[in-house]
Amino acid sequence: MTGVRSAAVVGLGLIGGSVARDLADRGVRVLGYDRDPATVRDALRDGGLHEALGAGLEGVEKADLVVLAVPVTAAPGVLRQIRPHAGALVTDVGSTKESIVRAAEDAGLGDSFVGSHPLAGDHRSGWSASRTGLFRDARVFLTPTSRTTPAALEQARALWAALGARTEVMDATEHDRRMAAVSHLPQALATALGSLLGEEGLRRADLGPGARDMTRLAGSSPEMWAAIAADNARHLSAAVGAMRARLAALHDALDARDAERLRSFFEEGHLWVATDFGSGQRQ
Ligand code: NAP
Repeated sequence: MTGVRSAAVVGLGLIGGSVARDLADRGVRVLGYDRDPATVRDALRDGGLHEALGAGLEGVEKADLVVLAVPVTAAPGVLRQIRPHAGALVTDVGSTKESIVRAAEDAGLGDSFVGSHPLAGDHRSGWSASRTGLFRDARVFLTPTSRTTPAALEQARALWAALGARTEVMDATEHDRRMAAVSHLPQALATALGSLLGEEGLRRADLGPGARDMTRLAGSSPEMWAAIAADNARHLSAAVGAMRARLAALHDALDARDAERLRSFFEEGHLWVATDFGSGQRQ
């Protein structure tokens, strides 16, 4: 990450805090802002933050790169406050990418913006959950705008490489469509299952290992996930609709006591896993 002497991180929770800690560890001067003054105090105390920015992000122009790490629905508003100096990279870490890429273009930051989505995290949130090394060996999707300069894309790659991650460039709409299936739908199902089990008076301690695995995600931040679902409503709604059709088919097969259709239902999922492992064995 040659040439990066200072970086600004906006939102010092799990992801932003982990970026800040890693950058500070690498000798970068970290400027930052969080809407919770206690978080800023803790980050300054722990050495992950060297200088607090004002609520209007005054001083952000001193940074060689800016990382937004706030809930995805808050990101466009924060983006409008940023006026970095020429050549400074602006990126984010949000779990959705289409709206932030559009917001960056609308804010006149199309040249210097590259969306980022690190596939790393935790069900816990806040500065206290942040840590160094969170992005080591993680995949990070990079979503440029239609105007991102090659230099900005290279800066984004270098940032994540310095944090130990592997980057992959992807179109923002394709990213959101894919994430609806591989991340947002699983989260919604874990949450629905958790609330159903709660309604039945069951606790996590009552579950076996499989159901515990399946419901672990339900413990994630409701605020963060409500923002992701709202922002990716189009693609997530399509994925939920496809899942509803599968559950309806299962429901019908159960009501009809149709052993053949039940077998097909379970076989399709099994085949998907078995093909992936190339062994035909139950995994
Ligand atoms: P988090 O731990 O809740 O941190 C978000 C932080 O941003 C909180 O300190 C929050 O303050 C602060 N904040 C909220 N609105 C703000 C604003 N307008 N200006 C400044 N600060 C603001 O959440 P996170 O897990 O780090 O998530 C941050 C981003 O990373 C999200 O966009 C999420 O989609 C993405 N992401 C998360 C994961 C994951 O596993 N958690 C993985 C990949 C990507 P308050 O505490 O006062 O709300």
